[in-house]
Amino acid sequence: MIDELKKLEGFRQEVRGWLLANLPADWQAKMRGAAEADHVAFQKFWFRKMMEGGYGAPHWAREWGGSGFSFAEQIVLYEEIARAGAPRLILYFIALHHVYGTLTACGSEEQRRRHFPAVLTGDEIWCQGFSEPNAGSDLASLRCRAERRGDRFIVNGQKTWSSNAHHARYCLLLARTDPQATKTRGISYFILDLKTPGISLRPIKQITGEAHFNELFLDDVEIPAENLIGAEHGGWAVAQATLSSERGLTILELAERMRNGFGMLLKAAQSPAPMGGQLIDDDEIRRRLIDVHTRIQALRLLVNNMLGRVLRGEGAGVEPSIIKVYYSELLRDFTDLGVTLGGIGAQYAEPILMGGGNETGNWMQDYLYSWAWTISGGTSEIQRNIIAEKALGLPREPKLAGVG
Ligand SMILES: Cc1cc2nc3c(=O)[nH]c(=O)nc-3n(C[C@H](O)[C@H](O)[C@H](O)COP(=O)(O)OP(=O)(O)OC[C@H]3O[C@@H](n4cnc5c(N)ncnc54)[C@H](O)[C@@H]3O)c2cc1C
Repeated sequence: MIDELKKLEGFRQEVRGWLLANLPADWQAKMRGAAEADHVAFQKFWFRKMMEGGYGAPHWAREWGGSGFSFAEQIVLYEEIARAGAPRLILYFIALHHVYGTLTACGSEEQRRRHFPAVLTGDEIWCQGFSEPNAGSDLASLRCRAERRGDRFIVNGQKTWSSNAHHARYCLLLARTDPQATKTRGISYFILDLKTPGISLRPIKQITGEAHFNELFLDDVEIPAENLIGAEHGGWAVAQATLSSERGLTILELAERMRNGFGMLLKAAQSPAPMGGQLIDDDEIRRRLIDVHTRIQALRLLVNNMLGRVLRGEGAGVEPSIIKVYYSELLRDFTDLGVTLGGIGAQYAEPILMGGGNETGNWMQDYLYSWAWTISGGTSEIQRNIIAEKALGLPREPKLAGVG
C-alpha cells in the first residue's frame, strides 16, 4: 500500500514536471479572442504534444498506442492537468472516450484498426449524431431512417446539437433500421464518414455568439454495411457502451478546475472592478463566496466517493447523476458570482476560449455557457428522475401505452 502510494506520488511529480516544461506559458492569455481556426490548430498542437509526452490517451490500451495507465494514475493525471490549467482536449473528447469505448466494446477488429491509429495521430476528429429535434431526453424516439440495400444502408433524416461536427471527419450515428420494432429494438449504430455525398451541416448560433453545435441533414446518404457497429437493430445496446465509456474522470477534472478557479473569485472580491462590482465587505457577497466555496469542497467529496466505488470495482452507481446535477447548478452560481463581482467588464462576453474550462474569468461567457451544463449529457430533470428511481426506489415515471 505504502509502495503503491509512493509510486503514485512519483508519477504525480513526473506529470507535474512534464506540464511545467511543456505547457505554453500564458496560453490562455495568448489564445483569448483568437479566431476559431487558431483554437483548432492549438487543440491539435496540444493533443500531439500530450501524445509525445505519453499523456494524450491515458486510458487507451498500450497495444493501440495509449498509455494503459491504471485508474489511480489517470486520477492523478487529471488532477495535475486541472492544477496546471492545461487545455481541455475538447475537440478530441468524442474520439478519445466515446469512439474508443464503443469500438473496444462492440466494434470489429477491422474498425478498430481503421480508426484507432488515426485518432491518435490527431488527424481524426469525431462528433456524435444522437439527438434529433424530437429525440433528446427520449433518445429512443429517434426517427432518422437507415434502410438496408444489399451491402449498404441509405440514410435519410436529421440530427441536431452535434458538437463540433464542423471540425469532424466522422460521426457516431444512431438511426432507425426497423420502424416496426418497439422503440429501442429497431435502432442501429453506424460510423458515418462526413465526406459522404448527401450530408449538409447547418451551424446553430448560441446565446454566447458561437456556433458550437450543428444541425446535420442526411439526404440519401450511403453507409457501407462494414460501418455498422454491433448487430443490425442492436444499436441501443451499443449506445449504452458509448454512454458508459467515460468513468468519472471528466467531472474530476472539472471539479478540480473549479476548486483552482475559486481563487479568481476571491481576488475579484478583493479588488474593485470598474463601475460597480461588489466587494468582500458586502455581507451578501461574503455569504455567496462561502456558499460557493463550501459546495466546491462538497463536490470534490462526492467525486471522491464515486471514484472510490470505481476503484473498488463496484461501478459508479447513481453517483454520476447526483454529481452532474450538483456540478452544473454550482457552476451556474459560481459564474453568476463572477458576473456580479466583475462590474461593467463582466457584462461583455468575449469569444469562447476553446479548451479553457468553464471558469475562464470571462464571466459573462462563463455564466451563459454554464446553462448548457444543465442540459448536455442528460438534463437536470432527467438526472433527478434517475436519482428518484435508482437511488431512492421511488415509482417509475408512467410510460405511454405501446411504447417500449
Ligand atoms: C453543450 C451541449 C452539447 C451537446 N452535444 C451533443 C452532441 O454532440 N451530439 C448529440 O447528439 N447531442 C448533443 N447535445 C444534445 C443533448 O443530448 C440534448 O440537448 C439533451 O439530451 C436534451 O434533449 P433536448 O434538447 O431535445 O430536450 P428535451 O428532451 O426536449 O427536453 C426539454 C425539457 O423537458 C424536460 N424533460 C424531458 N423529458 C423529461 C422527463 N421525462 N421528465 C422531466 N422532465 C423532462 C427536460 O429536462 C428539458 O428541460 C448537446 C447538448 C448540449 C447542451
